[in-house]
Amino acid sequence: SRRRKIQENGEFVSAHSLISTKPPQNSSPGPKNPLKKPFTCPLRGTNPSEAQKEDSKITGIEEKLIEMIESEIITRNPCVKWDDIAGLEFAKKTVNEAIVWPLKRPDLFKGIRAPPKGLLLFGPPGTGKTMIGKAIASEVSATFFSISASSITSKWVGEGEKLVRVLFALAIKNQPSIIFIDEIDSLLSSRNDGEQEGSRRIKTEFLVQMDGAGTNPNDRILLIGATNRPQELDEAMRRRLAKRMFIPLPNADGRRAILKNLLKSVPNVIGDKEVEEIVKRSKGYSGSDMKNLCTEASMVPLRDIGDISNLVVDEIPPVGLEHFIIALDGIRSSVSQTDIQQLLLWNKDFGSFQ
Ligand code: ADP
Repeated sequence: SRRRKIQENGEFVSAHSLISTKPPQNSSPGPKNPLKKPFTCPLRGTNPSEAQKEDSKITGIEEKLIEMIESEIITRNPCVKWDDIAGLEFAKKTVNEAIVWPLKRPDLFKGIRAPPKGLLLFGPPGTGKTMIGKAIASEVSATFFSISASSITSKWVGEGEKLVRVLFALAIKNQPSIIFIDEIDSLLSSRNDGEQEGSRRIKTEFLVQMDGAGTNPNDRILLIGATNRPQELDEAMRRRLAKRMFIPLPNADGRRAILKNLLKSVPNVIGDKEVEEIVKRSKGYSGSDMKNLCTEASMVPLRDIGDISNLVVDEIPPVGLEHFIIALDGIRSSVSQTDIQQLLLWNKDFGSFQ
């Protein structure tokens, strides 16, 4: 039956072409229409380690790729709940309906209700895009594959194409799957000028795999791209990331919620009045800026003591507003107004939800 499956596209592909040393015949598209023949996953329904044993052609690097993906890229239980994500009420509700429901109940979301295969989360860094990806995976008990696009191009020079192929094959095998590609702009940038041959091939392989992963209507695979530079994505990629959602900086409510949550882990004398003061002074801060701010504020009382070698925990003064005031001086917003303006413009032109 494996042979039948891999003949789905009318052309026989070696069951192990995925992990063989030679590039698979139908995954090296010609320049005219590189995306015409989607690559079919030879690992569907097989165990990669069994496949490995059967195929004497598997090289060390391919074995290494599978091992690396299984140890570094796959998270089986990301365990982020919607409630862990502060603010972003609109994004959470929309993603839940458009993405989570269909992944949970594919039988209800067919035909015209069919879900998108690709989601783009764009916005300033540190605003919860990765958290949303993980929350989707948690909600549907999906296998979560998380990889940074810049690491594909830098760390896996020469093997990037193979990595992409193995990644999608494992995603199909372990579905429902979420493939989360951080900094997707660096992989699929429209700046073609000095583009290396290697990264051009990775990009093509990516597009081929995305199309391939969408050919079987029963596949439950979602690709999520995250970026803070959506303007650098090309048209081919935009089209495949059909739903494009802006993830903004947290507003006052969001910052308040993040702050209150982080304060739970440290003794403090921050009441409602102090919280409001910090919220007011941290306008423009991202979620991760807020986290850095809290870490910094919690360090101030320790620094004041100086020699901590014999310090008893109870002797540490609780964190107070004065410590935050000092921390606010050192930890500034990491996002510039110019970046925000660019993102808002792009959202107007290409965002799916206004
Ligand atoms: P990115 O948008 O760059 O993917 P992340 O989701 O990785 O950002 O967020 C980085 C960190 O910042 C998180 O681990 C979390 O501590 C904090 N953070 C960012 N946004 C939020 C949010 N909306 N709610 C709670 N924590 C947040």
